[in-house]
Amino acid sequence: MVLKLRSPSKAKRAWLDQTAERFRQGVQLGLDAALSAKTSNRGKIHAATYASIRALGLPSDYCRMAVNQAVQLARSHFGVRKSKRRARKPTVVRSQGIGLGANAYRVVGTTLRVSTGNRGEYLWFPLCVPARWRDRLQYVKGDARLFKRGSDWFVMLPLKMPTTPTVCDGGGETVIGVDLGIVRLATAKHPQGVFLVNGKPIRHRRERFASLRRRLQRHRRTDRVRAMGDRERRWMTDLNHKVSRQLVDLALRYPNPVLAFERLDGIRDRVRGSKKFNRMVSSWAFRQLVDFVQYKAERAGVRVVFVDPRKTSRTCPKCGHATRANRPEQSHFRCVACGYQGNADVVASLNIAAAALDVLRHGPPDTARLGQPGQAPPVGEGLDGVKVWASAHTDPNLESSA
Ligand SMILES: [Zn+2]
Repeated sequence: MVLKLRSPSKAKRAWLDQTAERFRQGVQLGLDAALSAKTSNRGKIHAATYASIRALGLPSDYCRMAVNQAVQLARSHFGVRKSKRRARKPTVVRSQGIGLGANAYRVVGTTLRVSTGNRGEYLWFPLCVPARWRDRLQYVKGDARLFKRGSDWFVMLPLKMPTTPTVCDGGGETVIGVDLGIVRLATAKHPQGVFLVNGKPIRHRRERFASLRRRLQRHRRTDRVRAMGDRERRWMTDLNHKVSRQLVDLALRYPNPVLAFERLDGIRDRVRGSKKFNRMVSSWAFRQLVDFVQYKAERAGVRVVFVDPRKTSRTCPKCGHATRANRPEQSHFRCVACGYQGNADVVASLNIAAAALDVLRHGPPDTARLGQPGQAPPVGEGLDGVKVWASAHTDPNLESSA
């Protein structure tokens, strides 16, 4: 969470500027040591440079952060050097700001209290906190960062939302089902409305890219075809970053949030068999979107649950009647049993949430069922260590006879 410091006084600005400059010098010292010793070992860098960083006048809490930052920069530099033949020697930029160790600050009310290094001496920075983020301040935990953009100062505060036990403790979760699709990239019914991302611009763009590609191929411009493919992928990646951010932010508006998706083999099934369909939104784009959501959700403390994709699009969320006949057209849902009507994507979102709740209530399904031939393997541990579950069954209420 990034918050702006509310117009700090001249003296406080001077402290920020001075500390940022010392911090930058400290990181540079650490980085130089790392490069000359060809190591990114934290202990070694710390031992070699701590005293001289401290001598810059940087408080000890900040020195540790400067060493950490140097280690990170060194690691990314060594990483880049492996892939490219020559990478320029990195210099530490001013914009990186000041690393605020977990012990160097506290949020009191809506004010940031920063330690100056002298015992019992603090600087107080009132923060601009949007009302909808106020609840989140209680979850601030871990190393933070102060940084300057233009003439304004900001603080990046890490959030650690409490995670509840995997087996449900009597409810209280807000489960938001996210339906991914072609017509709409994402549809998510949440307590206060419906979040949706129209898929039309994506389809449109892919069509245009495809026709361009055909023309270029006729002229045997394989280099340009490849470059265009890269551009298209980058565009989709950007969009996925945005949408995943929005979904996680949406979830964070609710207590104890859970985001639920269909297992992705379902999406591949859905777009299989049609070349045109595949071109519209390829499965890697969905997979990437879900990867991004998982990654961002983990950092924000939002759980992600995966459910069985079968029947989510044709089950009535009201009475549970499941039949293909409930979907007279692609975009519309109308239950033949009880008459419940709604947008098909919203209905799918509701069903995904219901199935996810079932996973939360009854835990991950037994492995024997998942081991049956013809079924997709369970999703065990997701990317980045996020625990995810695959459900091989849906709520019995949703499986009523066709
Ligand atoms: Zn119904």
